[in-house]
Parts: sequence; C-alpha cells; structure tokens
Amino acid sequence: MDSVKILGVPFSRLTLSDTVKLLQGKLEGERAEGAQRGLFHLITANPEIVMAANQQPRLREIVDAADLITPDGIGVVLAAKWQGTHIPERVTGYDLLIGLFEGAAVRGFSLYVVGADEETNAKAVDIIKDKYAGVNVVGRHNGYFKGNQETALVADIGRKQPDLLIVALGAPNAEKFIYKHKNSLNAKVAFGVGGSLDVIAG
Ligand code: UDP
Repeated sequence: MDSVKILGVPFSRLTLSDTVKLLQGKLEGERAEGAQRGLFHLITANPEIVMAANQQPRLREIVDAADLITPDGIGVVLAAKWQGTHIPERVTGYDLLIGLFEGAAVRGFSLYVVGADEETNAKAVDIIKDKYAGVNVVGRHNGYFKGNQETALVADIGRKQPDLLIVALGAPNAEKFIYKHKNSLNAKVAFGVGGSLDVIAG
C-alpha cells in the first residue's frame, strides 16, 4: 500500500473515495477463518495519536499492527507537505462511515455499533436504520462497560459476525478495544469513529 511515514506512522495516500472502495471490497470479501481469522483494522489517526504512539509502546504495537492508517485531520496532511511528501486529503472515520452507508444502497452489509452513551447509541442506530436501508444493524451496545460486561459484549459481537464493526469510545480507547479482541470479534472490518454517533444522533 502506497504510504507516507510521519514520525514513524505509515499513512495511506488513498483519497476518501478510494478508501471507501477498498473497504467495500473487504466487506464483500470472504470472512477470514482459522489461523487467518484477524479482521481488517483501520485506524484513522490524528496528530495526537501519532505523538502518543511515539510515547506509549502499547499504542505503537497497535499502530504497527493496523492494516490501514488514514490521515484524520488536516494536521497530518500539512505534516506530509512540510516533509516534502504528499497526502491528497484527510480521511476521517465519520466520512468513511457515511461513504459506506451511502454505498450500502447497492451493496448491503451488516453492522454492529459500539459506543457513546445509551441514548445516543440507540438514537444513532434508529437513524441509520431509517436512512440507509442497505445497512443491516445486527447489534449495538453503549460505550460504557467494564469487566464482565466487556466479555459479554465481545461474545455477542463474535456471535453476530457483523461485516463491519464501528467503535465510538474515543481515541485511542476504540483502537485498544479492537486490537485486544481482534481474534474474537468475527468482523471483516473494524474501525474507531470518534464522536460520529453523537453527530449522527444530532
Ligand atoms: N465514549 C464512550 N465510552 C467512554 C468514553 C467515551 O462511549 O468510556 C464515547 C463518547 O460518548 C463519545 C465518543 O466516545 O461518543 C468520544 O468522542 P470524542 O469526540 O471524544 O472522540 P475522539 O474524536 O477524541 O476520538
């Protein structure tokens, strides 16, 4: 994958629409089984994550293991410019999500929605169901859980086998959750979406 390294983090140089196409291909593809069971973990990384990855070994490990890292914010695009390289545009979790939802009219997929408070999560899911008929929401859970609840949540996601899992726990909690449970989630694609559920719920 064509990428530009900024402070050691390899950023994709795909445009938003090409990134949506890549993810659509993953959502339509076979679910990885057995030893290959990992999902496609996309990280939309802002400058804070780049800095944090250089300070926290655990986050560095997560970033290094990611399947694709997109530039979340103009700061990353500008940083590329300053070092004499080029990134075409920012590619945020929200924009990817809406791109995938809009594309679902022709190519449907199943979705599991984790994150935000209970009311926001429920409202965002209602709106997604209303607005995007091609998106089959197979499960949802608010973003305030711990211990046993987390175990039960991961088991529920694993059972529902969503094509796409979106996680709105704030960065880098979403990335940590996806990485920690990568082999149990049974999703094809997963990414953190920051405050997107709040935006969708309005
Ligand atoms: N959130 C959550 N659980 C937590 C902390 C945060 O579900 O323990 C949710 C919060 O309700 C909000 C989102 O995560 O919907 C955080 O959005 P924010 O804009 O802070 O994320 P960032 O853009 O920093 O990734």
